[in-house]
Amino acid sequence: MIRGPTLITPQMAQEAIDAELAPWPAESRPLEQCIGRTLREDVYAERDNPPFDRACMDGIAIDSAVFGRGVRRFLVQGIQAAGAPALRLAGGEHAIEVMTGSILPRGADCVIPVEEYAVSDGIAALAAQVAGTPYRNVQRRGEDSRPGVPMLKAGTTLGAPEIAVVASAGLASVRVSRPPDFMVVSTGDELIEPGAPIAEHQIRRSNAYAIIAALKERGFERIGNDHIPDDEGLLRDRLALHLAAWDVLILSGGLSKGKFDLVPHVLRSLGAREVFHHVAQQPGHPMWFGVGPQGRPVFGLPGNPVATLVCLIRYVVPAIAAAMGTARAPPEPAALASPMRFSRAITRFLPVCIRWDERGARSAVPRPTNGPGDFLALTGTDGFAELPPQQEYPAGFLASVYRW
Ligand code: AMP
Ligand code: MG
Repeated sequence: MIRGPTLITPQMAQEAIDAELAPWPAESRPLEQCIGRTLREDVYAERDNPPFDRACMDGIAIDSAVFGRGVRRFLVQGIQAAGAPALRLAGGEHAIEVMTGSILPRGADCVIPVEEYAVSDGIAALAAQVAGTPYRNVQRRGEDSRPGVPMLKAGTTLGAPEIAVVASAGLASVRVSRPPDFMVVSTGDELIEPGAPIAEHQIRRSNAYAIIAALKERGFERIGNDHIPDDEGLLRDRLALHLAAWDVLILSGGLSKGKFDLVPHVLRSLGAREVFHHVAQQPGHPMWFGVGPQGRPVFGLPGNPVATLVCLIRYVVPAIAAAMGTARAPPEPAALASPMRFSRAITRFLPVCIRWDERGARSAVPRPTNGPGDFLALTGTDGFAELPPQQEYPAGFLASVYRW
């Protein structure tokens, strides 16, 4: 457990989380269900790629050696369609019409495009200046990849190009990470569901919806949503159920030093092991992380909406992605577009918009909030810059940007 008067840094918090998260199980899924998933096996070519010498223009296939002897008129003996087995040139001064994607006929090694000859009475007469070099307009067998060399490595995220490669390897299904399911729990007596009547002293329950949105944007589908009042008995009963039923528990609120901030105490009483409570950062100081009695991760995010979202993106999302086998993408470097000054030197998470100047250089335009409750200021921003503990940051300061 990491706690006490010396607060841990964000980097230490990240490392402590990573150390507790076991690799997520993998499963074999049909190709169409693998979009956006993390590959958990290397994928090898089934055959050479391309698997045969392949015509890559519509035209005629000829023997370049015959062309080299000065022959410019060829007898067109037949048609080689894509998907048909290879024909054979009947003789040196013969040509076979080929279609893009067809196998190169035996005896031919050059494709003259259809624009460069005219056919009359079954004879293709080549135009002057036509080149007839070996393997012109032919993709050679094995040019792109060969069996035995992985085309895709475990850890790759499967987007459209990668799915094409898996299909080309002849695989109908492939091993990918099984995405975890998440239970998102907000705590607080003051929180009222959108759509329900609300009194002056109450506030809308917005954090859970922000968390769910960020998870869904990343392709997670099985996400529970619960609200628990600040009541020790209710918290204990409901959290016990959630700890047993869900892969990952994400809580918001109830972590500070108020009389009704009961979450760390209740989690401990349910057998959760606290790994850390409090991180030297602003916003998000009360962040909590632990491991439930079943060994599953529990993230306690601070209730203030800016802190909730920042901590979700800074800690939860990358840790889950890493556990699913995806290499941790480093945050993007971007230069601060204007100087910033703070009263205290502590790691800051500063909302920013990313801009490109005329020369293509990236900069981060600060969009400071009026405090950790000012989630309105986040709308239209791209993410937040992590600034190391300093009081002043000049314009041009290179910050690490995390996208929402
Ligand atoms: P807490 O950490 O529970 O003390 O909450 C800190 C602040 O964030 C309080 O002003 C809460 O009202 C607010 N808050 C807590 N949970 C939520 C939520 N789910 N949605 C919006 N605001 C919240
Ligand atoms: Mg609360």
